[in-house]
Amino acid sequence: MAKQTVYDLNKDALNDTLKSLGQPAFRTTQILDGLYSKLYQDFNHFANIPSSLRASLAEMFVIDPLHVEDTIVSKDRLTEKVLFTLGDGLQVESVLMRYSERNSLCISTQVGCPMGCVFCATGQMGYMRNLSPGEIVGQVIWAMRKLRAEDSTLTNVVYMGMGEPFLNFEGTLASIANLTNPDMLNFGSRRITVSTVGIIPKIAMFAREHPQVNLAISLHSPEDLLRSELVPANRIYPLKSLIQASRDYVERTHRRITFEYALIQDVNDSPELALKLAGLLTGMLCHVNLIALNPSKEYAVQGSSKDRVLTFQSVLEEHGIPVTVRLRRGIEIHAGCGQLARSRQPE
Ligand code: SAH
Ligand code: SF4
Repeated sequence: MAKQTVYDLNKDALNDTLKSLGQPAFRTTQILDGLYSKLYQDFNHFANIPSSLRASLAEMFVIDPLHVEDTIVSKDRLTEKVLFTLGDGLQVESVLMRYSERNSLCISTQVGCPMGCVFCATGQMGYMRNLSPGEIVGQVIWAMRKLRAEDSTLTNVVYMGMGEPFLNFEGTLASIANLTNPDMLNFGSRRITVSTVGIIPKIAMFAREHPQVNLAISLHSPEDLLRSELVPANRIYPLKSLIQASRDYVERTHRRITFEYALIQDVNDSPELALKLAGLLTGMLCHVNLIALNPSKEYAVQGSSKDRVLTFQSVLEEHGIPVTVRLRRGIEIHAGCGQLARSRQPE
């Protein structure tokens, strides 16, 4: 079996491990500094710890749980998709997006996804397994190393890659804990966004655990019949309960919630549906992100035309719903939302 990554451990677990190896308490600080500030890739780089301890740690753990198999860079060089091979040979992807003011990394939480949304390339590949906390954190560490080499820094992390974060709830929460712990990566909670298809029972739990982390919910339709067709999870977690859970979330956290809506030409992009959506969200502290669908191999429809996107947007605006149209980044390298599995499937 593949060795566990040391990034799986939270601070207490690392403490306990070092204690069991007969080490003084300050070793934890040294190791965390090497892992999360210096971004060392090898236990031999920890010059300040005894070589016998380095050897023991190397016997128990790997540092890097991910092997970079391939990276594809967009023509403008701003978007980069990386394909990682995990310890057991399975693969996941992350996407690094460079903007003028920020650098954002889109990370995966599962190999594949069991939710089967019809338009999603990850959904189309089925579900293999959850990522461990360290496999999630490792994607962030990869981006930090990469950007540091460019004299830049990572400013945002979005859990919008492969998989449904709330079906890997423990792994997601544990990874966020390591990312945000001031003694570990010390990454700001408000710079992290988790996107869910709407696993209702987990929404309140998430609000309790990480009220400062941003929440996005993938809506894609304001009508149950259509949403159930596009997003099968809606059959278990229908809109009325999902919207109620969203309102409860806002009440508890006082944080704005984001609703993702992928516009599919002539499917969910009519002005009537925009009006319905406005009605559903009225009075809620929220924001709608519209994105024209990236067509995927097994769902032969088109993203909405620019006109349809703009009309949809203006109906929402007229009804006082804050809305942004998202650019489709990295389309030519199949690094758009929900396209992450695509390049490895035969064309
Ligand atoms: N499972 C989570 C997070 C990963 S998917 C979720 O569903 O929210 C990230 C986002 O990409 C979701 O909003 C999802 O609906 C969207 N998405 C999936 N396939 C897409 C596609 N082909 N075009 C545009 N957005 C897509
Ligand atoms: Fe899974 Fe999200 Fe894709 Fe749906 S859109 S299949 S929940 S990854």
